[in-house]
Amino acid sequence: MFKGTGASPGIAVGKALVYEEQELNISKENIEDINLEQTQFQEAIKKTKLQLQQVKEEAMKKLGADKASIFEAHLMVLEDPELINQINHKIKEEKINAAYATREVVDGFIAIFENMDDEYMKERAADIRDVGTRILKNILGMEIVNLATLEDSVILVAHDLTPSDTATMNKEKVLGFVTNIGGRTSHTAIMARSLEVPAIVGLKNITEVIQNGDLVVFDGEEGVGYINPDEELLKKFKAKQSEYEELRRELQELKNNPSISKDNRRVELAANIGTPKDVEGVLNNGGEGIGLYRTEFLYMNRDNMPTEEEQFEAYKEVLESMGNRPVIIRTLDIGGDKELPYLDLPKEMNPFLGYRAIRICLDQPEIFKVQLRALLRASVYGNLKIMYPMISSVEEVRGANAILEEVKAELDKENIVYSKAIEVGIMIEIPAAAIIGDLLIKEVDFFSIGTNDLIQYTTAVDRMNEKISYLYEPFHPAILRMIKMVIDHAHKAGKWAGMCGEMAGDPNIIPILLGLGLDEFSMSAISILPARKIISELTFEDMKKMAEKAVNLSTAEEVKNFVKASI
Ligand code: PEP
Ligand code: MG
Repeated sequence: MFKGTGASPGIAVGKALVYEEQELNISKENIEDINLEQTQFQEAIKKTKLQLQQVKEEAMKKLGADKASIFEAHLMVLEDPELINQINHKIKEEKINAAYATREVVDGFIAIFENMDDEYMKERAADIRDVGTRILKNILGMEIVNLATLEDSVILVAHDLTPSDTATMNKEKVLGFVTNIGGRTSHTAIMARSLEVPAIVGLKNITEVIQNGDLVVFDGEEGVGYINPDEELLKKFKAKQSEYEELRRELQELKNNPSISKDNRRVELAANIGTPKDVEGVLNNGGEGIGLYRTEFLYMNRDNMPTEEEQFEAYKEVLESMGNRPVIIRTLDIGGDKELPYLDLPKEMNPFLGYRAIRICLDQPEIFKVQLRALLRASVYGNLKIMYPMISSVEEVRGANAILEEVKAELDKENIVYSKAIEVGIMIEIPAAAIIGDLLIKEVDFFSIGTNDLIQYTTAVDRMNEKISYLYEPFHPAILRMIKMVIDHAHKAGKWAGMCGEMAGDPNIIPILLGLGLDEFSMSAISILPARKIISELTFEDMKKMAEKAVNLSTAEEVKNFVKASI
């Protein structure tokens, strides 16, 4: 049995594919037959080229020209005569094995590109590294697993999955993920939920325990699974799988219902998305809006900033597909665990407390303005609300709003239309912001509580670190009190408060959030229908009384038990 953090609900049954970076053990060998080594090298180049062409075509079909361009760049590296000639030359002159010669020359190229001043050239180092690894694996006859061209349906077993892994993978073939690291709010977990594939994260060493081809079964809600189960256990999981699918079908009946408590308290159940593609899942799951569009994914998996036009197209697509439903688009929230190599940010001791999100946007307004222009231009296609992340002070909100006004003035000058009714809000994810909510609310139209970060900053618990995941506690009385403060600050000012952290979709916490008066709950699309069902079975007035008592309890355990007993 293995047990980790249940990250995405559902039951997975399937063969394992262990997806991890293999160590390349390459030592220098003196060789006799130069021809043989050079032929081996040429064969590896040919094979690499074929593989890259195939991946590029697959990516083009499934993911579009944009994502496929990564592989185009890789093919160009492979066609660089300088690189190929130097490797051939090294094999011949030094009479050494092809693998060693390749690694030496590739490493040399990487160092040259990394040291260039030009940002674009620096980026090429990553392409050279990727292509070099491919060539080496082909020389050594190692298997290259490519998530874009998966043939069979598999359960992926990985140390972690990067956003580029999840962006390029063939989603139809992935039955589930299990990973060594991560917690419920790590980006792999969030991605699994938006793909609606079951996942367990934080399994520590699962890549060592599961072998390729093992039969794996797991429950993504409970976080429990088995390797090569016996007949009886397998049957049990298959039955659980059918039950789960049946439950999802039943929930579909609530798809077009309003989200309303027994005593008619109406709330909005919205969804968190990462790309325009996710909107389909939101509508299929009865989402009443988008409570958080994480735009940073537009900036990731590429070599340069997305242009105003590219951003405009993405925002317009989401707004149009959502009709007149509200769509909250969050401005760039990069940094922390989300890197942008081409921004060339220096490594920091504490990236989660560092140069990130609104801090970068205020420091580099030229980046921020492109996004704001694209947002404003797209605003006429739907019901847009703009939200700034990682706000810690009134000055930051004023700074961001001043830039927004500048951009509006520029558009006015150019006679470009934009909606005049755009609400502007902020995320409350830093304790300082929660505490001065009464001051911040004067500057904005709404709050959205980002509990993923608010919990980590309030309790000083890294949300990515599975060693201390037991301390990452949404039921902590400090968190509940902070949420209550934020909602009260908004309501006193006659404004509304939502929540887009993962807590908002947790069935065990929804009763308290409803009782505290939360107006909008934004969650993974897959959690919306279960949340609608729970709310329809609760009485707001009762939950209000319950929540008032709950915030005065001493421990998370007491709160949990009290909520359970009260519903
Ligand atoms: C949050 O911090 O709660 C949040 C929603 O933002 P992210 O998970 O993208 O940091
Ligand atoms: Mg956050």
